[in-house]
Amino acid sequence: MSFEEDDGQSGYVSELLEGGYLEGAEIGAAKAFLAGGDLSPPQQYVFDSFVLRKHEPGACKRCRNGIDWPEKYESKHNGGFCGYCANVIHKADRDD
Ligand SMILES: [Zn+2]
Repeated sequence: MSFEEDDGQSGYVSELLEGGYLEGAEIGAAKAFLAGGDLSPPQQYVFDSFVLRKHEPGACKRCRNGIDWPEKYESKHNGGFCGYCANVIHKADRDD
């Protein structure tokens, strides 16, 4: 197992968990991941295929760039935009 620097992925997984997005085996896999231990092969499969892939918001709908981990959860709530575009749209929507 190679050590991966935390780039916001664990925060995103934590938000999915706390936000009620995960169910069944996804919850166990997410908790095992957040606990920092090695995941069993079945847990790793569930984590990769469901926790991450099923809930992946995809590329930003405006600029088509990938969305960074720290912005993924937010993008699930703002219509699928990266932080930059969400900010631009928010500003454009304001009346003043
Ligand atoms: Zn964008």
